[in-house]
Amino acid sequence: GAKEAGRNAFRFFTPAMNLAAQDRLRLEGELRRSMDLGELMLYFQPILATNERRVVGCEALLRWCHPTRNIVPPGQFISLAEETGLIIPIGEWVLRQSCYQARRWLDQGYDLHISVNISTRQFREQDFRQVVESVLSESGLPPQSLVLEITESLVLEETEQLMEDLKLLTAKGLRFSVDDFGTGYSSLSYLRRFPAKMLKIERSFLQEVVHRRDDAALVEAMISLAHKLNMTVVAEGVETLAQWDFLKECDCDFMQGFYFSRPLPVTQMDAFLADHFKETPPNPEKGST
Ligand code: C2E
Ligand code: MG
Ligand code: MG
Ligand code: MG
Repeated sequence: GAKEAGRNAFRFFTPAMNLAAQDRLRLEGELRRSMDLGELMLYFQPILATNERRVVGCEALLRWCHPTRNIVPPGQFISLAEETGLIIPIGEWVLRQSCYQARRWLDQGYDLHISVNISTRQFREQDFRQVVESVLSESGLPPQSLVLEITESLVLEETEQLMEDLKLLTAKGLRFSVDDFGTGYSSLSYLRRFPAKMLKIERSFLQEVVHRRDDAALVEAMISLAHKLNMTVVAEGVETLAQWDFLKECDCDFMQGFYFSRPLPVTQMDAFLADHFKETPPNPEKGST
């Protein structure tokens, strides 16, 4: 009967495929519930001015504190969230939390911008602009303090409505940033059409920059290109002093990376701000402030 047919259908799957499919399905169910269970959390990674090591902003990075899988990094669930559409409510939650947190820092005297990653799918939602505008007004965060990070794949399906919404948001003072610049296949045409004010150089370009002349030339060229387009440049993935020195030489505006700080939970970010918000000398003496 039906049971028999079901069992036959089952045989088309190899045990490994079946396990992967089951695992995915379980993960999807868990992700669906994660928001209600309060398992999603934001970490914040400081963004610093290259010439003086001063904190100018931070990037909100999503973490899933799973009860049995510990902390799941976004690389393991963002694409699932995108495929299932869960990124829409999750992304709105991220945006709201980020704006409220940035507002709190502003109230404490820390004038930072907050960078929020936006998935292409979120961005294409009909009411994207309205969501951003209402989150800004609810939280009281000035639009100038919000940066939306978008990756290059977006350009493929831009519509007139989308470009219109972008212009309206930009007119309010909000900034867009092109994330992971240099890795897509349409980087330059993207810059021509997209009204971005910031450009983030993908960290793979930084990795060998001190040893490889070609990488150094590419990074220098990206920075000067961005500056000619009146964009602010952020280097991501700064892990060494030598990389920082190189970025200073090339007049890179901002930087972010493990050399300065990993992404931090909010209380640790508070402590980092207390130590680093003001310009600090290269080797600050303990207790000098
Ligand atoms: P991204 O937006 O390019 O974020 C930067 C990633 O580089 C973060 O990984 C950060 O921890 C890592 N990173 C920063 N500095 C260094 C460094 O010096 N060395 C190394 N090795 N890595 C560094 P994370 O947090 O695992 O996030 C990965 C990606 O997941 C993000 O890349 C972003 O594309 C996505 N993501 C994170 N949070 C969100 C979110 O709230 N919404 C959406 N749509 N995507 C998100
Ligand atoms: Mg980003
Ligand atoms: Mg990036
Ligand atoms: Mg990335």
